[in-house]
Amino acid sequence: MNRRDLLKYLDDFGWRDVDTAALSAPSRPPATQPAPTGGEDPLVAGDLAEMGRRLADCRRCRLCQGRTQVVFGVGNPKAKVVFVGEGPGADEDRIGEPFVGRAGQLLNVMLPSIGLRREDVYIANIVKCRPPGNRDPQPDEAAACMPFLKRQIELINPEVIVLLGRIAARYLLGTTAPISSYRGKWTVWHGYAVLPTYHTAYLLRNPAAKRESWIDLKQLHRRLQETG
Ligand code: URA
Repeated sequence: MNRRDLLKYLDDFGWRDVDTAALSAPSRPPATQPAPTGGEDPLVAGDLAEMGRRLADCRRCRLCQGRTQVVFGVGNPKAKVVFVGEGPGADEDRIGEPFVGRAGQLLNVMLPSIGLRREDVYIANIVKCRPPGNRDPQPDEAAACMPFLKRQIELINPEVIVLLGRIAARYLLGTTAPISSYRGKWTVWHGYAVLPTYHTAYLLRNPAAKRESWIDLKQLHRRLQETG
């Protein structure tokens, strides 16, 4: 992706505070795969399954070099709620499904507390390939992957998007504020109601934050009851 396209992506996604100098850093390797032009473009796939197949060999950013497989997303293609995390970890990279490690297991036990099962919701990440050593996804990696997350969300058309953690909020909402300042506060992204909350990995490290996380979950529950 060239710099002009990248900046347009960032603008489309409401990014205002990005360090554009960093985006043009000379150390950034060129995209390893040109944008597809033909009928294999994942963005024009008619459904999630086809889109996932078309992305399976994605080489649009450097994360392809260290991944085992693309972790596309999992769950109900008609889900009312889409959960968005940051990126696959080692377990997800091995198994090919988001949130299957310890953070995912916590999510699995949180969902039933508001009457949801993992199969009811859809779960995806900002980036679909594991960042090396579980580092944070970089802006150009997120920008390369974001059109696919946006298209997944459009195909699902959920009532609510729940952002798990500061990285998901950074790349969807363009905020670098501390997550404690905006978690539990509803906002809107491309017409979708969005609820940012703590990442389950953070909750594992900071069990005291579970109290606020529960407040956020109850808000989600209320919203889903209101929308039927
Ligand atoms: N953390 C994430 O943000 N995503 C996963 O898929 C797993 C852990």
